[in-house]
Amino acid sequence: MKTSELVQLEIAVKRLASNSTFYHSLQEELLKIASGHHGEKNTDYYLQYTPDHMTHLKDIRLFDGIQHFQVDSLLTSDSHLTIIDVKNHKGKLIFDFDNQQLIRDYKGQKDYYTDPFIQVEHHKLQLTRWLHHHNFPQVPIEPYIIISNPQTVLKTHGRDAHGYKNRIIRAKRLPHLLNKLPYRQKPVAWNSEERERFHQLVQKKNTPFTVSVVKKHGLIMSDFVWGVECPSCGTIGMERRRDHWRCRCGRKSSDAHLQLLQEYAVLFGSEITNAVFRKIARLSSAKVARTLLVQCCEHNTKHSKARIYCISK
Ligand SMILES: [Zn+2]
Repeated sequence: MKTSELVQLEIAVKRLASNSTFYHSLQEELLKIASGHHGEKNTDYYLQYTPDHMTHLKDIRLFDGIQHFQVDSLLTSDSHLTIIDVKNHKGKLIFDFDNQQLIRDYKGQKDYYTDPFIQVEHHKLQLTRWLHHHNFPQVPIEPYIIISNPQTVLKTHGRDAHGYKNRIIRAKRLPHLLNKLPYRQKPVAWNSEERERFHQLVQKKNTPFTVSVVKKHGLIMSDFVWGVECPSCGTIGMERRRDHWRCRCGRKSSDAHLQLLQEYAVLFGSEITNAVFRKIARLSSAKVARTLLVQCCEHNTKHSKARIYCISK
């Protein structure tokens, strides 16, 4: 499933005027997020082979009492918790253990990141706090870094004092790794009731983070090209005729404004007024706008300008 941020970016880039100052930065961000999404999908493909004795919890964001922490995937078993952090970098990745850095070498350019093991070790600490806070036993936590892009070249540098090298795994090897766990015949760390309570509490306490692309980039209504999009040729700006929308290509539609409303809701929220709808649908008549809105949206009991319509999903 696409993340909310990816859906917002796709619509924002489609609707931004190509000469907008935001266009290139948002397009770049869309490419970055879409490639991350592709990487997670590749990892998820292999996570379907999670053995029966493990349970897979995805995209978990919890509060440790001090701060929130987020893990891509969390796997539970009788003896362990496994944290999975997905990396989707292109090019060559060098894990520099001496300097605790991750270096990405791509198209002759070097980018430096914090060693992802510092991050997962911190997540381990945060998850330990969370377990303690909710009266769970201290289940051993095993972190892994998953390299989702099969083309990524991997290198390590320096002395691997903590045995991290064995914790960098290519996505394709995940099923093999998971079937091997728990290795060393570790004892049972919690009983099935405790583990089930953990699954339920994680789902209940999970607070996914949703960014607003519009707020993050300080975009306003007038940064976008509004208008009803033709379902056939994709041209934005269908014209309203007596009882339908009509495109220059000849296509007629009775409900092409519904997609426009959905896109508006993704970017600016589900509440809309008649005046704003007229602006985004390029309608001149308040009466026509009202007729269309009443057909598809719930609204409050106020009249004329104060009336707010709620776009349903
Ligand atoms: Zn058309």
